[in-house]
Amino acid sequence: MNLNNEPIRAKRGTALTAKGWVQEAALRMLMNNLDEEVAEHPDQLVVYGGIGKAARNWPSYHSIVSSLTTLDNDETLLIQSGKPVAVFKTHEDAPRVLLANSNLVPAWANWETFHELDKKGLTMYGQMTAGSWIYIGSQGIVQGTYETFAECARQHFGGSLKGTITVTAGLGGMGGAQPLAVTMANGVAICVDVDRSRIDKRMETNYLDIVAHTLTEAIEEAELAKKEGIPLSIGLVGNAAEVLPEMLDRGFVPDIVTDQTSAHDPLNGYLPKGFPLEQGQVLRREDPQAYISLAKKSMAEHVEAMLELKKRGAIVFDYGNNIRQVAFDEGIRDAFSFPGFVPAYIRPQFCEGKGPFRWVALSGDPADIDKTDEVILQEFADNEPLCQWIRMARRHISFQGLPARICWLGYGERARFGKRINEMVASGELSAPIVIGRDHLDAGSVASPNRETEAMKDGSDAVADWPILNALVNTAAGASWVSVHHGGGVGMGYSLHAGMVVVADGTAEAARRLERVLTTDPGLGVVRHADAGYQKAIETAKATGIVIPALAR
Ligand code: NAD
Repeated sequence: MNLNNEPIRAKRGTALTAKGWVQEAALRMLMNNLDEEVAEHPDQLVVYGGIGKAARNWPSYHSIVSSLTTLDNDETLLIQSGKPVAVFKTHEDAPRVLLANSNLVPAWANWETFHELDKKGLTMYGQMTAGSWIYIGSQGIVQGTYETFAECARQHFGGSLKGTITVTAGLGGMGGAQPLAVTMANGVAICVDVDRSRIDKRMETNYLDIVAHTLTEAIEEAELAKKEGIPLSIGLVGNAAEVLPEMLDRGFVPDIVTDQTSAHDPLNGYLPKGFPLEQGQVLRREDPQAYISLAKKSMAEHVEAMLELKKRGAIVFDYGNNIRQVAFDEGIRDAFSFPGFVPAYIRPQFCEGKGPFRWVALSGDPADIDKTDEVILQEFADNEPLCQWIRMARRHISFQGLPARICWLGYGERARFGKRINEMVASGELSAPIVIGRDHLDAGSVASPNRETEAMKDGSDAVADWPILNALVNTAAGASWVSVHHGGGVGMGYSLHAGMVVVADGTAEAARRLERVLTTDPGLGVVRHADAGYQKAIETAKATGIVIPALAR
């Protein structure tokens, strides 16, 4: 709620509330993260991904808003886990905001310590794009999810998911992209969620096609669509730890199985089996320890069912929520015998610095995104998969909050496109500046051994210098805001990652910043993978002239 007790919604148009477009952009993006259309639980400042928040508490939120409004063009606001702590004079090319979210000293980096500190009001869980103010709703992950399922289709099903059934769970902020991504790849999906309101939200935003009332109905609908070769996504209210074993009992084996419940956070992200939603919420409040222990047990059973489905022939992969780790800790020794989605399907793209690149129209005018879509189709006409993506996105994706777009662009492509956008703002072709950023599901800014850096070629999975270098170099290059986070995606103790956003306001200064930041940021992704020995990354570095001292020898 804003100070007038109204729902939060970013301002649109060209009139500034702040003293410059970069501060204005941060202000609008913070508010956009908390827009009812965008966030999962905006009343609690929760954007997505369990308890991923945009600000620590309401006083902090209002204080950030007022600081951004008065911030000068040569000042930098510092945010410590969702709370504004200082404003310093820096210089015009420096970031206007620097954020550090959920970081804990390694030996203390666990949920127990985090919850203690959170209760005392000393920290906040920033997830990935929640605390770094560049969340754009479920669209933010649709292409990544589509890329994953499309690669799965190429590897196992001759290039299309037509005639296949995927079973998954979790229809939250990110998981809600799964049904649309599967149908875009021509497949059928049964998507289980314990919370009917999450299923309804995906129906309202056209991410989900139908709701089944029982498992029998879901399976029947899915098998019919599979037989007819038509894409269909089916929502089913249920607990994955109960539904998957029930599928096994019935002898139903889907073609693909994965999961996007918020298993990374056993207290807030995963409902133990046997509990209706409201009863689970009561237990969570009254006996958090009992809740955590039951949630972990259910996750173990969930993973056991996934392992059994794999044995019976399904393609099974972990979708970046750390559920294998929880099951392993609960005694399921072979929990890691199905792979994570990054080593299975995504890493070759990381080697070229590719990842979810996004931009947002501060005008609020969908026509601005339309025009940038056209530019992608012209500038990158030789990249057919990319153009096909843009055409599909235009057809299928409803905007949530400020109009935005996402696509996977790599090293070189990002700087080229950023420059073009800035020119369009300068010429008045676009009606207001554009915010350019990315997810933390990224090539060079994440250390996450059960996800982005799982099974690195040189064994450097847990080396966490890379996200720190990413934040430092993007700060040096003049990004508009830069953030360093802990625990996103997979939970406390399991990841360090950095975010960056850069604003195209049509000025010559912005053009220089965009050129630098959109080069250093994906460039480090190429370097990180070249350093780990990936031939594709080494070739990309050589072909594009990225200077890597070890390769020059
Ligand atoms: P979210 O918290 O918004 O949604 C989680 C959903 O899971 C909720 O709708 C909840 O009702 C449901 N759920 C909880 N327990 C359940 C159970 N036992 N059975 C069925 N449904 C259950 O989270 P999100 O933003 O959708 O993210 C989901 C997970 O995916 C997180 O762990 C997140 O870190 C991870 N993630 C993955 C990627 C990726 O690219 N793979 C990207 C971002 C986030």
